Amino acid sequence: MKVDGSCHCGAIAYTAEVDPEKCSICHCNDCQITAGSAFSFSVPTVDAKVTFTRAQPSIYMKMTADSGRPRAHAFCPTCATRIYSASVAPAAPQITLRAGPLKQRRELTPKRQLWCSAAFDWPQAPGEKLSGQ
Ligand SMILES: [Zn+2]
Ligand SMILES: [Zn+2]
Repeated sequence: MKVDGSCHCGAIAYTAEVDPEKCSICHCNDCQITAGSAFSFSVPTVDAKVTFTRAQPSIYMKMTADSGRPRAHAFCPTCATRIYSASVAPAAPQITLRAGPLKQRRELTPKRQLWCSAAFDWPQAPGEKLSGQ
């Protein structure tokens, strides 16, 4: 599935090919902190490729991610939108896009949840659903 996205300020725009069947929610500590939320919502690229059509993102390297391996995090240096996280050599190339900045985000549904041991014990998205807010 072809997707395209851009950061909040619009400085960064990109296209990629993703596998919607591997769309996931991740509850790991790294995702909670970097997403500023309870979990992240992501989809992996099929070929570890992202084509940037405007500015390039900045890269933050977490030397020991929750997985125990280093992981690269791409983000907009102006508005701090998270674009993707990626494996680092010698691990096999792999890029996982954050679903939120994608135009097609409403067409993506999580198919699996990762790092459930770190998940909050409250139900996902609790609370009354208010319309129009
Ligand atoms: Zn931006
Ligand atoms: Zn995670």
